[in-house]
Amino acid sequence: MSFEYTPWQRTADSANLLDSNGTPRITIFEEITALANKHQAVNLGQGFPDTEGPEEIRKIAVDAILNGANQYAPGSGILDLRNAVCEHQLRFYDLPLDPLTQVVISTGATEALAASILAFVEPQDEVVTFEPYYDSYAAMIGLANACHRVVQLRLPDFQPDIEQLRATVNDKTRVIIVNNPHNPTGSILSDEVLQEVINLAHQHDCVIISDEVYEHLRFGTRHTPIASLPGGFERTITISSAGKSFSFTGWKVGWASGPEPLITAVRTVKQFLTYSSGPAFQPAVAEALRLPEEFFTGFAHQLGHAGELLAAGLENAGIPVYRPQGTYFLVADVAQLGYEDATEIARIMPEQLGVAAIPMSVFVHEENRTAYSSLLRFAFCKKEEVIVQAVHRLQGLGALQR
Ligand code: PMP
Ligand code: GLN
Repeated sequence: MSFEYTPWQRTADSANLLDSNGTPRITIFEEITALANKHQAVNLGQGFPDTEGPEEIRKIAVDAILNGANQYAPGSGILDLRNAVCEHQLRFYDLPLDPLTQVVISTGATEALAASILAFVEPQDEVVTFEPYYDSYAAMIGLANACHRVVQLRLPDFQPDIEQLRATVNDKTRVIIVNNPHNPTGSILSDEVLQEVINLAHQHDCVIISDEVYEHLRFGTRHTPIASLPGGFERTITISSAGKSFSFTGWKVGWASGPEPLITAVRTVKQFLTYSSGPAFQPAVAEALRLPEEFFTGFAHQLGHAGELLAAGLENAGIPVYRPQGTYFLVADVAQLGYEDATEIARIMPEQLGVAAIPMSVFVHEENRTAYSSLLRFAFCKKEEVIVQAVHRLQGLGALQR
């Protein structure tokens, strides 16, 4: 019996799921983490913290498991968590929401993103993202058989050129994806850029998908959701998750909020992805969202310190750094080490230096790689002693010179 594989290959190809030899890819995060584990390197590649989220929140999940929260949660998520998302959006951003119609709980931000893209994007539609972009956007746009158009974030502050943004969004654009604060560059889009995205969405009848998973990880500034700017709410699906704000990346509890017609569409698709997940994690995340302001500012402050330690250590090793305004990532430029693409050095660093990082070019369209090819992304959501150890090892980067 023959095995018909062509249709899968075609889909996989457009979603960038195969490498140039036609082999199914694993994500760069998985690849680099495997190398870091193999060589016992300090893993500053995949973005996950090495400290646990608050113990009182973990206990809620344990108690929930022991007390019967083990069967399907409702497709929209438990009401307590939807209420907590509404309270959070009101408390931090003055955005009132109806928990019954304007919020849906998802399996991480990833599922909310997937459901939003699948809900609004038809084959041949155009989806605009900034570049570099988080890898799952490209995969989902490809799986939806849509066309992925990009607007570059430019060095040194990783802001877009407004004229390029205007020239890229057009009547074929169905969705504009915004990620603010931004992975992988650590930049924060100016209100001017966000307002232009809103204006363009109105002009060309687009939906805005705003990925705000790093909303609380900012160094000294407050977050502005695009939905809180004039004309923003009615066109925006705002997405966040418990992974980054509370250091529970493995729990995969996320949420989407926005106007009822948009959230109804997301929920309708989402029910056929996972339906629902994490019934014991959901009540815990509800309480996490209600933690006092000091929790959020304290965590950001601690991360800012770790980021500064790493930035100073890289600079001490002679490597230029672009300091982040938010997230737990920073970008360093290893051009002087003589590699055409930093992917090469990223693959040898775990073994030869004992530190792992992610090459920036994996977040970029093939044809645009040159501008970003000497850049590496380092995650600094690690304990101080781990950053100190990484910095110590990074002093040997010069020895990897070509
Ligand atoms: N968006 C961005 C920008 C991310 O960095 C990540 C990685 N955490 C996600 C979405 C996925 O979030 P989650 O783990 O909640 O699915
Ligand atoms: N969001 C994490 C990062 O950017 C990785 C998530 C994943 O492994 N898919 O590093």
